[in-house]
Amino acid sequence: MKIVYHPRYTDIYDIDPAAAPGRIESILKEVIGSYDFIEPYPASEDDIRRVHSPSHIADIKRNPVIYNAALLAAGGAIKAAQLAASGEPSFALIRPPGHHASPESCWGFCFFNNIAVAINRLKNDHLIRNAFILDFDLHYGDGTENAYMKMQTRYYQPEISNREAFVNDIRKTLEAAGNYLIMVVSAGFDRHEADWGGQLMTIDYAAIGLAAKEAALRVCGGRRFAVLEGGYNNDVLGKNVAAFLEGFR
Ligand SMILES: [Zn+2]
Repeated sequence: MKIVYHPRYTDIYDIDPAAAPGRIESILKEVIGSYDFIEPYPASEDDIRRVHSPSHIADIKRNPVIYNAALLAAGGAIKAAQLAASGEPSFALIRPPGHHASPESCWGFCFFNNIAVAINRLKNDHLIRNAFILDFDLHYGDGTENAYMKMQTRYYQPEISNREAFVNDIRKTLEAAGNYLIMVVSAGFDRHEADWGGQLMTIDYAAIGLAAKEAALRVCGGRRFAVLEGGYNNDVLGKNVAAFLEGFR
């Protein structure tokens, strides 16, 4: 299990909560020493063009600081996907997040859809034909859903307010799903009881990570990667990511 990380992910590229100071550091504190780190390169504009329209790319380019941060985040997702495709599970500890970025537009602290860019890169390189995406962020990944028709990929995000039912739905859905070549997790931690969603406990993230790992082992030879999305309480974010990775590794 590798963590894909670049020191520039601590840069403050915007004033939104995903770009807040201390956020990435709260995760680093909990995972340094337990995992090998790998540094990614920025995504190329060709990589981005497989998902996003020229006009959307031009919009983001108007702010070079955000554009470069978004390219480096998408590059981190690509690196994690390449590791996973080669048999090494991975977690992209990146920002800005991506699941609210649609082909033609974006909102919710997202600019480019990191996961869609990564999956389409693997497809372009003939490494996979399809994927299963599990998204457990508090907010619906509308951008990923809007991009998914290009990916022949199943996108699944439970919308259940009961804590145990939420985790059980993930377990049951993953046990029933098949016929995919890579498991991708859109890992947002803002459902936590001390975060905006007020729902999940830290141990739930370990259970979800384990369920995703077991499904990947059963269906697609264990090929799996996860990508950071939301999670805004720095007092608990690092512990929640560490719990997820303990299950997912
Ligand atoms: Zn969210």
